[in-house]
Amino acid sequence: MKPYLKRAWAEVSLGKLKNNVGIIKSLNSPDTKIMAVVKADAYGHGEEPICRCLAEECGIEYFAVSNLDEAITVRRFCPDAEILILGYTPPEYAHEIVQYNIIQGIVSTEYAEMLVRNISEPLRCHIKIDTGMGRIGLKHDTPEACAEEIKNMLEINNLFVEGIYTHFAVADSDTPDNVAYTDRQEKFICDTYDILKNHGINLPHVHFMNSAATCYRNNPKSTLSRAGIILYGLHPDISLDIPEGLEPVMSVKAVVSHVKTVDKGDCISYGRTFIADHEMKIATVTVGYADGYSRLLSSKGEILVHGKRCKIVGRVCMDQLMIDVSEIEVKSGDIVTLIGKDGDDCITADELASLYGTIGYEVVCGISKRVPRIYID
Ligand SMILES: *Cc1c(COP(=O)(O)O)cnc(C)c1O
Repeated sequence: MKPYLKRAWAEVSLGKLKNNVGIIKSLNSPDTKIMAVVKADAYGHGEEPICRCLAEECGIEYFAVSNLDEAITVRRFCPDAEILILGYTPPEYAHEIVQYNIIQGIVSTEYAEMLVRNISEPLRCHIKIDTGMGRIGLKHDTPEACAEEIKNMLEINNLFVEGIYTHFAVADSDTPDNVAYTDRQEKFICDTYDILKNHGINLPHVHFMNSAATCYRNNPKSTLSRAGIILYGLHPDISLDIPEGLEPVMSVKAVVSHVKTVDKGDCISYGRTFIADHEMKIATVTVGYADGYSRLLSSKGEILVHGKRCKIVGRVCMDQLMIDVSEIEVKSGDIVTLIGKDGDDCITADELASLYGTIGYEVVCGISKRVPRIYID
């Protein structure tokens, strides 16, 4: 292992990633393959080691990314992978999409026509249907009308359509209203696919399962399960359990830089929001909001020190924060855990997220570039 600065670092367990892939495979029917969603630097876990592990050790063939830069990066590590760009590529880059053998998500007839204007070889694509997410894609009142537009798109010169897909808005909710909403989204995409089939158009792919759908409403009709957050062992929504055995892949650690005793009346950190009401022992920790440990956790978050929870006191600074270690033996240089297991206790990204009103996705994506990723088994 390369040496790294033991200040604040993220441990990424490839063993846990592999285990999570095994569990996701067991949720899917034999006809559904995993499309590993590795956008945003593999949800902050590091594109290269994650993609290599998935392709070389887990047999993953399909990857999804948000943009062309990410697609080209994945192509470097995974020469044989099928790579789908879920987001926008400016039409002047159509040539690169073809050159790197990437698949582009297509959101409208107009966009398809703009893309092929600049190329002389076929551009591979999957057509995105907006069945209720309200973000991107072909939007129609009926599957018949949608299939009609797709049929016309098949005539566009140099556009090679390999599939259609949609994205669920509330597959991570079990309220009857939301379940009915997702049922309708699913029916729309499946009906569109079947109408095309009845017209003799047999596309290799139709896909609609994200992590939540993969867990809670797995459907063998989806040729791919676009698994993102569950690959990394986190919850699509904190209120619903995820299948047994899925484990968080990332832990985040830092060290204690300074320990001191403060008197009653002493202030801690910017703004003097914390004033000791008795004598306390305070430790300074080498992590802050510039590392992606949110300032919104000021006086709220907890950190594990030798397996025990210690409260953050006062404001989280850019590079440092302070915790109450009155009850613990601790010294400068000791390792502390911001996210992950220590002894019998564990703080998850999902737990931190719920403390300040976001989701685990944002916590792991937000661990900044300054924090080296260390890969362990
Ligand atoms: C990000 C994304 C996914 C993955 O979502 P998870 O909830 O992380 O599984 C799947 N499909 C699309 C279109 C996405 O943008």
